[in-house]
Amino acid sequence: MYKQGTFVSYKVNMNKTFCENCRKVNEYFIKEENLSGSLKGNIYSYKGKKAYCKKCHKAVFVHEINDYNLYKLNESYRKKNNIISLDDIKDIPKKYNIGKRPLSIVLGWGELTYSRFIEADTPTKEYSETLIKIRDDIDYFEKLLDNSKDKISKIAYEKCKKRIRELKTLEATKLSATADYITDNYDVTNLVLNKLLYYIQGFYYAFYDKFIFDENCKAWQYGPVYGTQYYKYKEFKDNPINIAIFENDLLNEEEINLINNVVKFFSCYGGNVLIEFTHHEQPWSMTKNNKIIKKELLGSFFKEIKKDYKINKPEDIHKYSEKMFKKYKGAYK
Ligand SMILES: [Zn+2]
Repeated sequence: MYKQGTFVSYKVNMNKTFCENCRKVNEYFIKEENLSGSLKGNIYSYKGKKAYCKKCHKAVFVHEINDYNLYKLNESYRKKNNIISLDDIKDIPKKYNIGKRPLSIVLGWGELTYSRFIEADTPTKEYSETLIKIRDDIDYFEKLLDNSKDKISKIAYEKCKKRIRELKTLEATKLSATADYITDNYDVTNLVLNKLLYYIQGFYYAFYDKFIFDENCKAWQYGPVYGTQYYKYKEFKDNPINIAIFENDLLNEEEINLINNVVKFFSCYGGNVLIEFTHHEQPWSMTKNNKIIKKELLGSFFKEIKKDYKINKPEDIHKYSEKMFKKYKGAYK
């Protein structure tokens, strides 16, 4: 039986293997190919990988690539048969803030069943349907949790219950989705995060003539801040925000690309420098006193920046951030 998830390491240092044809260990190269395989009596096609000897170009066997192909075959099987994906199975305990064992118990399963679905087994249709239902239906899951309240520890129950309350009240918006995306993928402090959100709002408008966030930011003492997001992460103080958040699909590719570029070109300077930047930008300097920064002001300011710095695509945003850094780095040394 193969182990799911072990294939990821093949890129790093496994580029040599035994070639049957050359009768020795040679380097190999990898090609993506359309492959097919059989699983539970049916044939499934999938995009897999094959390794070839660099010397003789004959196919060679590489464990990690074999594992990868089995994983892809399994994914293809799941898609065809509407079986929940492994990623989704991994996300559910994070979403509900509950361990795999208590979760297994809440579902009325053996204590280790959930872990087995993460480590090796593919759930049957019946198990999969339960998993899909709890993935999508918070109320249904809450009922199951309440029904098994006495079977799991008080702490586990209360942690999970608290998360369910949060999930129900937390109205997912592009703003919260963006904050979640950034904190999930980058190390940022609350202060830096709020500056990034402000730049994302500004540059998104400059490129696409519409605002990505409905919410307004305010001109606080240390620069622009989105209150809801600030309070959401307040407990982290000056430390990088470190919190497990489940994925959402509110953001499209265009938005994610802009977000990544803003994060890349601004977060490297750190909080103090970003305070300096934003204090020298009109949206903040013309507002101040904790007042709402008017969207029109923010939008037109970044339109000008885009024009003045010849920023033609999100990848050009560094032209502005680098210039600002040269200008204002002196303030903090
Ligand atoms: Zn060879």
